[in-house]
Amino acid sequence: MAVTDCLFCKIVAKDIPATIVHETDRTLAFRDLNPQAPTHVLVIPKGHYENAAALAAADDGLADEVLTTAHAVAVQEGVADSGYRLVFNTGPQSGQTVFHVHGHLLGGRDLLWPPG
Ligand code: AMP
Ligand code: ZN
Repeated sequence: MAVTDCLFCKIVAKDIPATIVHETDRTLAFRDLNPQAPTHVLVIPKGHYENAAALAAADDGLADEVLTTAHAVAVQEGVADSGYRLVFNTGPQSGQTVFHVHGHLLGGRDLLWPPG
């Protein structure tokens, strides 16, 4: 169910533009507006779940599908072999700013650890 004031629900509805790189019946992947690496793609379920905890509780295979989509995008972007990071900011200390669950797929450069 789309949430009217949710930015990513609006991207799913194509009400606001995004550079979409992958789409399935239940998932969408599009380039982050403020990329932090040569590949920085956001992978989301089309349905609205607030964060990874809510997606995990969906219990209908959707979380698996988001993960599978993220890897498919990594292959498509040419970073599957060099390596990539998949980050779901979730909860008060995580820095999450958009409350429609999204995996950040980052790759194409050496990524530092620990993250900031
Ligand atoms: P987070 O801090 O994990 O909630 O990440 C939200 C991400 O959404 C940030 O990396 C933003 O750059 C990105 N973002 C915000 N608005 C848009 C947009 N309209 N299209 C694509 N990415 C966006
Ligand atoms: Zn939403």
